[in-house]
Amino acid sequence: MTVSVATLGFPRIGLRRELKFALESYWAGKSSLAELQTAAAGLRALHWTRQKALGADILPSNDFSLYDHVLDTSALIGAVPTRYDWTGETVDTDTYFAMARGTQGAASSAGCGHMHDTTAQEMTKWFDTNYHFLVPELSAGQTFRIASTKIFDEFEEAKALGYMTRPVLLGPVSYLMLAKAKAVEPFALLPQLLEVYAEILARLAKLGAEWVQIDEPCLVLDLSETQRTAFARAYSALATRGPKLMLTTYFGGLDDNFDLVTDLPVHGLHLDLVRAPDQLELALEKLQPHVLLSLGVIDGRNIWRANLPDLYWRLKEIAAKRDLVLAPSCSLLHVPVDLALETSLDPEIAQWLSFAVQKIEELAALARALNEGEDASFAAFSASRIAAVARQTSPKIHDPAVAARLAALDDTAIHRPSPFATRRAAQQERLALPAYPTTTIGSFPQTPEVRKARAAFIKGEIDAAAYDQYLRVETRAAVKWQEEIGLDVLVHGEFERNDMVQYFGEQLSGFAFTRAGWVQSYGSRCVRPPILYGDVSRPKAMTVDWWRFAQDQTELPVKGMLTGPVTILNWSFVRDDQPREASCRQIALAIRDEVQDLEAAGAAIIQIDEAALREGLPLRRSAWQYYLDWAVECFRITASGVRDDTQIHTHMCYSEFNDIIRAIGAMDADVISIETARSQMELLDAFASYAYPNEVGPGVYDIHSPRIPATSEMTDLLTLAGKHLLPPQIWVNPDCGLKTRKWDEVRPALTAMVAAARTMRIRGAYDGQ
Ligand code: GLN
Ligand code: ZN
Repeated sequence: MTVSVATLGFPRIGLRRELKFALESYWAGKSSLAELQTAAAGLRALHWTRQKALGADILPSNDFSLYDHVLDTSALIGAVPTRYDWTGETVDTDTYFAMARGTQGAASSAGCGHMHDTTAQEMTKWFDTNYHFLVPELSAGQTFRIASTKIFDEFEEAKALGYMTRPVLLGPVSYLMLAKAKAVEPFALLPQLLEVYAEILARLAKLGAEWVQIDEPCLVLDLSETQRTAFARAYSALATRGPKLMLTTYFGGLDDNFDLVTDLPVHGLHLDLVRAPDQLELALEKLQPHVLLSLGVIDGRNIWRANLPDLYWRLKEIAAKRDLVLAPSCSLLHVPVDLALETSLDPEIAQWLSFAVQKIEELAALARALNEGEDASFAAFSASRIAAVARQTSPKIHDPAVAARLAALDDTAIHRPSPFATRRAAQQERLALPAYPTTTIGSFPQTPEVRKARAAFIKGEIDAAAYDQYLRVETRAAVKWQEEIGLDVLVHGEFERNDMVQYFGEQLSGFAFTRAGWVQSYGSRCVRPPILYGDVSRPKAMTVDWWRFAQDQTELPVKGMLTGPVTILNWSFVRDDQPREASCRQIALAIRDEVQDLEAAGAAIIQIDEAALREGLPLRRSAWQYYLDWAVECFRITASGVRDDTQIHTHMCYSEFNDIIRAIGAMDADVISIETARSQMELLDAFASYAYPNEVGPGVYDIHSPRIPATSEMTDLLTLAGKHLLPPQIWVNPDCGLKTRKWDEVRPALTAMVAAARTMRIRGAYDGQ
C-alpha cells in the first residue's frame, strides 16, 4: 500500500509578497499586463518546483489566483453581472479586476469614450478564516458557459514544466451556496451549472488530468434538504465521467452530512482531521474500500509544528491496509510561506512552528516513514518529538501566576456592582453630557506622514524621543480640533498604533510577531497575525500614558481606547494546546487590568472594541451558544472591574445583529457603537424587538467611503434611529474609526455630524414643550 503527499493549495502571494507588488504596480499603471503575467507565471513555476522538492507527490494547479479563487470560478463559468458590460468570448483581465475592485470612471476608461463608476462585487469572509472572497452574483436569466481558460492553461503550463498536476476546482454546490442570488432560486440553476462543470471536467480529462480536486467546503455546514439533494444530484452527474474526483472537505467535520457524502460516487474523499479527528474511524468504517482517502492531518489553519511520531502511530495500521493520501487539513493559503525568513524570532519559539514549506516537509517525512518504516524519517521524527516535548514543558508557555488568577475568578468578576439604571444615573451625574452626545470611534487619519514617522522609527532613522514628540504634536492637534468643532466625548486619535490587535499583542507577554509571516486577506492585501504561544499577562500599563497626555489637553472627557479579548483572539494564530476560550480568558484578564489602570488614572469613559466578535461564530449553529457564552463572559471580565460612574463603551463594525442580539445584551456595555449608515438604520430592528435597554451609537457617517455626508442626511438617520430607540438612548458617531480617511474628508464630515446632533437637540426641546 502506498502513502502519497498532497498539498491542496500553496500560498499564492509569494515568499516576499511578490504577487502583491506585481499587482499593485500593474493597477497603478507602472507595469504592463505582460509583466504581471510573467511575474504570476514565475510564482506558479516556483511553487510547483518548491512543493515537489519538499516532497509533495500530488501538486495542485489552479490554486494560484490573481485575486481570488471564487472570482476565478465566476470567470470560469461566465457568471459576470451585467453591470460590467462584458461581451467577450472569455473574461478579460480588465473585467476580472473590475469585478474584484470596481472601476472609477476616469481611471478605467482609457481609450473608450464613456466614463462611469462600477461597483465591485461584494466581499465576505471565506468560512471562518480571515481570507475574503468575492461573492458570486446570480440573477434571473442567468446562463453559464466556459468563459475562462485559466484552469486549462495552468494545467498545461505545469505539464510543460514536467509536472502532472491535480487541478483545484471549487465545487458547484458550494459555489451556489456562497452566491448571492437576485430574483432567482440558486438551485434552479444547478442543472445548467452541472452541464458546464461536466464540460470543464471533460476538457481537463482530455488534457491528461487523471484527478481533479473538487472543493466542497460547504459539506461541513448545516445543510437544508435542498442543499443535500443538490450534492447528490451534482456528484451523480459529475463523478461518472471525466477525471477522478477527490471530493475535498475542510474547516470542520461532516457530522450529520457523513452518510450523504459516503453515498456520493466519487473516487476520493479528503477529510479535515485537525478540526474533526473522530471522522477517521467513521470513514474507515463507512467508506467503500476503492475510495481513496485523503487525510488532512497537518493543521492548514495554524502555524504549529505537528507531533510526527504521534501521527505515525495513529496511521501505521491504516496505511498497511489501504492507500492513503496525506495532506494539510485545508489549502496552505491560510498560513505564511516559510519559517526560514523568521531570523529574529526567539529560536525556542521558532522551534515550535511550521509554515507552509515546513508543513509539506512534515507530510513528506510522515509519508516516508509509513512507506519505508519509521527509521526512514529518524531525524525528522526526533526533531519533531523534541520540539513537542519542549513546547509542552517550556516556562515560556506556562505561567503559574496566570493560572492561579484565573482559578480565583469568581462570579463577582463578571458583574458590574450595579445594574445599568443605577450606573446610568451615576454616569450622568459625573459626565453631564447633552442629549445626543457626539463622539468618534477612536482613530483619526493615519496620514502618510504618520506612517512615514513610524517607518523611520522602526528603521532607526529617528529615535524614540523624536517619534514620541511627533506623536504628541499629532495627538495634541487632534484633541484641540475635536474641542473646537464641539464634540462631546473626545479620543486621542490612536496615532501611535500600527494595528488595533498588534499594538496590544506587542505589549502583552505570550505573543510573538513574525517579520514576514504574511497571509493573504484579500486581493493584494495581506495581514501578519500575531502568534499567541503562551499564557498571557500584562507586564505594565499599555495605553495609560497616551490617554493621560490627551486628557491633560482638555477639560472634556477623553475615552480610554482598548481592543477587546475576543477580537485579539480571533485575529491571531492561537494556541492549540488549550481551548480557545482558555486563551481568551487570559487576554480578558490582561485587558481588565488595563481598564482598571485607566480608571485609576481618571478616565471616566473606556471603550473596549470587539470588532471581530461576530465573525468568530462557529460554522455550525449548534456550536454558537457555547461560543457566545464564553465570548460574552470574556468581555464581562474586562469590563466589570470598574465603578458605577465609569462608563464602558464597546464598538462593533457589523450590520447584522439579529443572530447575536441576546449576546450583545448580555455584554451589558453602557454604550455600544455600531455600523448602520449604509443600512438605513434597519439593523436597529434587532435592538428594538429585543428592547435593548442600554445606550446605542448607530453610525451616521459611512467611513468606508470618501463621501462627505450632509447634516440633513445625518439628522434623517437619527430621526429614523428614533423610531427604534428612545432618544435618550441615542449617541451620535461615525460607523467606525477614521484611520483610513483623509483629514480633508474627516473635518467637514465631523463638523456636519456635530451640527446634526445640535439640530436633534433643538428639535427634541421643541417636541418636549
Ligand atoms: N478604535 C478602533 C478605531 O477607531 C476601532 C476599529 C475597528 O473597530 N475596526 O480604529
Ligand atoms: Zn469598527
